[in-house]
Amino acid sequence: MEATIRKESIDAKEFYPTDLYEYSSQLTDGELEVLQDMRTALEEHVYPVINEHYEKAKFPYEAWNEVAKSRFMDDPKLFEGRDNELKTSELFNVFRYFELAKMDPSIATYYTVHGGLFYASLLYGGSQEQIDRWAPKVKSFEYSTCFGLTEPDHGSDIAGGLATSARKEGDYWILNGEKRWIGGADKADEIVIFARDEADNQVKAFVVSGKSEGLSVENIRNKISLRMLANGHITMKDVKVEDDRRLVNVNSFKDVAAILRTTRADIAHLATGLAAGAFEAALRYVKQREQFGKKLGSFQLVQEKLAIMQANVNACLSYSVRLAQMQEEGKYIEVNSSLAKMHNALRMRETVALAREVVGGNGITLDTDVARFFTDAEAIYSYEGTHEINALIVGRFLTGKSAFI
Ligand SMILES: Cc1cc2nc3c(=O)[nH]c(=O)nc-3n(C[C@H](O)[C@H](O)[C@H](O)COP(=O)(O)OP(=O)(O)OC[C@H]3O[C@@H](n4cnc5c(N)ncnc54)[C@H](O)[C@@H]3O)c2cc1C
Repeated sequence: MEATIRKESIDAKEFYPTDLYEYSSQLTDGELEVLQDMRTALEEHVYPVINEHYEKAKFPYEAWNEVAKSRFMDDPKLFEGRDNELKTSELFNVFRYFELAKMDPSIATYYTVHGGLFYASLLYGGSQEQIDRWAPKVKSFEYSTCFGLTEPDHGSDIAGGLATSARKEGDYWILNGEKRWIGGADKADEIVIFARDEADNQVKAFVVSGKSEGLSVENIRNKISLRMLANGHITMKDVKVEDDRRLVNVNSFKDVAAILRTTRADIAHLATGLAAGAFEAALRYVKQREQFGKKLGSFQLVQEKLAIMQANVNACLSYSVRLAQMQEEGKYIEVNSSLAKMHNALRMRETVALAREVVGGNGITLDTDVARFFTDAEAIYSYEGTHEINALIVGRFLTGKSAFI
């Protein structure tokens, strides 16, 4: 991979060559500068150590800390002309995920559990005092955070099935239960845990310290997808949580669904970036590898696959960007987030398969980068609502009939 040449004035068209319809032209100069800083840090610190971490199934925390220094959640440049200093523009958010996932999907997922899932839960569910307490430390990456919703016995049916319990005792809540697949749980300072209140049977949310007595995390072993990022199995036995750690605006699963409207959009953007990463890696390869005395990229059949991959990246970006524009206007619509996640994940999965094909045998080694995208795409296909669950949300919207059960 060629290193990005740093420039004072950034031409979005040059910076994002696979964004043929030039969605990135709407980014501000300040946003492009932050994206350039991110990319430089990713190339300098993450790229050189990715493969060894992938093989050892370890997260490159040192390299990540260097990337975090580009302040892609809280650089003042991101808030110029904006009223809300808590959230960057939604368009910047699309390209933040594009940048992270184009480098590596585990890195992008590490960000999404923190800056996506935890942060969205806090902004939606927290009182002003709670937001003031935690948001600055989340935005500066001083804290590492994650999101505990899924359980061992309840994945797709978590809405009705959520079994972790919360019992109020004086100024405290007592939490009992298990959470599974929780990205980054082993190192998290704070975890948002969703639990059912024994008193009214409604789902509530709690910001729980990762060091709480009675809370233990065991990492899921032998993963073949998103190998670099640990997914934890959390067990909670009589975990005591202060009442002021309950996110006051989460009072039923409807509120969880509202949070997922934001975070499913994030995963649609992440899938866009992942597709672009696989495509760009495949394109680099076919431009240099020769067979039959010619570059692979000069064969018609290879070019057709490149064209499909390019079209997929464009289609994914168009879903992401339009969704971002609507969310910027305050329109968080469930069917739109589900449709975008479903569509982009499907196109992402097709793209990684095509990328693997054109890279041939080398496409199953880490050397061409494509294999990482290929295996990582599987986790993204399943998390934040599987393909089927998002399709069922769209189907319910279209027909007025719920077909979940
Ligand atoms: C790598 C990874 C990271 C994750 N990170 C987190 C995290 O940080 N926090 C968190 O809370 N969760 C996380 N998850 C959990 C994720 O959201 C769940 O895996 C997902 O919701 C699916 O649940 P499940 O795996 O239990 O599958 P199941 O619900 O058991 O589903 C298995 C299959 O059956 C299908 N299915 C289920 N119900 C129906 C139906 N009614 N109709 C048709 N088909 C159906 C599903 O679509 C799927 O194909 C993560 C998962 C993975 C794999």
